[in-house]
Amino acid sequence: MAEASVFSRIIAGDIPAPRLYEDDQCIVIKDRAPQAPTHLLIIPRKPLVSVADAREEDVPLLGHLLWVASKMAERLKLEDGFRLVINNGRGAGQTVFHLHIHLLAQRELPEEGLTEDLQD
Ligand code: AMP
Repeated sequence: MAEASVFSRIIAGDIPAPRLYEDDQCIVIKDRAPQAPTHLLIIPRKPLVSVADAREEDVPLLGHLLWVASKMAERLKLEDGFRLVINNGRGAGQTVFHLHIHLLAQRELPEEGLTEDLQD
């Protein structure tokens, strides 16, 4: 069996990484090597390798990840805009083979108010 990815180990609680948000389908953490003032990772609990690894049954999950990204941007007041990036495959720069969405923005990440429910 393939070795658990660093993200699976974070989800399992084996590697500490503060969660800015989590629900039954995904977690959101800060990237440990930020490429922008705000750099978050939206990571599904399901260990899909990449977008290319997703199946039709994963369509609701893929939609949910984008919805969480949008809600995080709203919560962080990223009115000036933000980027969502998914590296798919080694040739595209993917280094962790557990699907994740990068959320990048030029606005500094506030220290408070990030762990509230996104449902409102
Ligand atoms: P990618 O190159 O698209 O696979 O992105 C993987 C990202 O995961 C990189 O931006 C890394 O900085 C980030 N990363 C790797 N390990 C950790 C970790 N333990 N905690 C937070 N971010 C991580």
